[in-house]
Amino acid sequence: MACPHLEYRESDGDREFDTARAFCTVAEEFVQPVHADICTERYGLDPETDCEIFREHAGLEWDE
Ligand code: SF4
Repeated sequence: MACPHLEYRESDGDREFDTARAFCTVAEEFVQPVHADICTERYGLDPETDCEIFREHAGLEWDE
């Protein structure tokens, strides 16, 4: 599974990529590689508990 806000884009509007890149539709920016494991729910990571962008978008507080 992956975050519902994750898309893969083959272009940034100016350049075409050889390989589609991960794009966060909430932040409206490409996902940094260091963050991508959360977006794709690898290693037991979960956007709802581990992504500050997801949580802020959902109106979740960190101490919930
Ligand atoms: S950065 Fe957060 S909200 Fe955006 S796609 Fe990744 S997990 Fe989802």
